[in-house]
Amino acid sequence: MSTKVVVPREILEMILESARHLHPRETILLLRGKASKNVINVSDVLIPPLATYGRSFSAFPAHMLPIDFSIVGAAHSHPSGNLKPSVEDQNHSIGRIMLIVGFPYQGKESVAAYNRSGERLALEVP
Ligand SMILES: [Zn+2]
Repeated sequence: MSTKVVVPREILEMILESARHLHPRETILLLRGKASKNVINVSDVLIPPLATYGRSFSAFPAHMLPIDFSIVGAAHSHPSGNLKPSVEDQNHSIGRIMLIVGFPYQGKESVAAYNRSGERLALEVP
C-alpha cells in the first residue's frame, strides 16, 4: 500500500504564501507532523535555521537542524512551475516526504508530494 500525505488547507496556504512571497527565489520550510506506516499528517511548518534562499536552490546546513523526531519532511518551491524533484532535491531530502510547490502557487494543483525515492505520493488537503 502506498503512503498518503495529509496537509490541512491552512498549512498548505502558509507554504504557498511563503513561495509567493519569495518568488522568484525558492522557499524552504520544514514540515512537522505525525507519521504512521501509510499516512503522514502534516500539522505545522517551521522555518529552518540559517536558511538561504537561492534562485536555483534552497539550502541550509543540515547539522543545524533541531533533533526533532516530529519533522516528517520539507517543502520547497520551484519558481519554474515544474513539480518534479531534481537530482539535487533527492540528494538533500530530509525526513520521509518532500513537498514541492510550483509557480503560480495556487491551490492543490500547484503541489506535489514525494517520498525519499522520488515516487509521487497521494496528497489529501482536508
Ligand atoms: Zn527542487
